[in-house]
Amino acid sequence: MSLYHTARTFKLPESKARCTYCSTEYMRVEGQYSICPLCESIVATGEKSPLDPALLSKLAGIKVSITKGSYLEAAENAETLATSQDPKVLYALASLYKLLSDITYLDVDYSLKAFMERNADNKNNETKRNKHNAMHLESRNRECLHKCIEILELSGASDEQSIFIKAMAEIKLKRYAHATIILSKQPDKGLALMYANMVLATDSKEKTAEKRITALLKAGETSAIFYAAKYLAMRKEFDNAERLIDIISAFVNLPKYGIYKKKISSVAQAAGV
Ligand SMILES: [Zn+2]
Repeated sequence: MSLYHTARTFKLPESKARCTYCSTEYMRVEGQYSICPLCESIVATGEKSPLDPALLSKLAGIKVSITKGSYLEAAENAETLATSQDPKVLYALASLYKLLSDITYLDVDYSLKAFMERNADNKNNETKRNKHNAMHLESRNRECLHKCIEILELSGASDEQSIFIKAMAEIKLKRYAHATIILSKQPDKGLALMYANMVLATDSKEKTAEKRITALLKAGETSAIFYAAKYLAMRKEFDNAERLIDIISAFVNLPKYGIYKKKISSVAQAAGV
């Protein structure tokens, strides 16, 4: 069975989950921890956030601001969290920065209304300013990931969550060789490490990608549909990739998927498909 077909016929798990970091709601397999489709944090089954309530509401607030289009508010709140020394917070925050940066870069016309209001005196440079803002947000994303790795290395933590975060942060920084070393020292058993290996294989175009995405889909991991779409898009199967994004958007309502669809169609257009 092709990866596209497996993803298209994915049976949606019936248990509702709420990310204990960014508060995104999604479906997951009953009794099993899962990976948040937005910030890609490990969400335990108990659903009680390991974070201090004030921290959690700040992180969740950034996601809410992004969802309702208040990007300046989101960016300002993110700044107040970037000083955190908690790798779990920095890791989740990095994903929110990345989303903000993608929105800013791809949605030049409207996404930065809030940024532009602040700079209303210089309207002619809006496009340039948006690109500048996108680069600033992207560099914030990278700073959070670097800091996260540094803190985890200093602490020497070797629990599953710490290894997962460290490997994922390396992958997001495109330092695939580092991620490979971290993951190769771990037995490939738990869901989180299976997930990190899947992301590494997809992003670094390893041969095992298809097999790893299929395994995660079979384990009922909703976020794997996104990687199936990414894998297909990277192989220039743009129509099928877009169809999978439509499927996942129907049950996980996240700006991330709209942005990704835009990315796929702009690459498809450039490729003349
Ligand atoms: Zn989350």
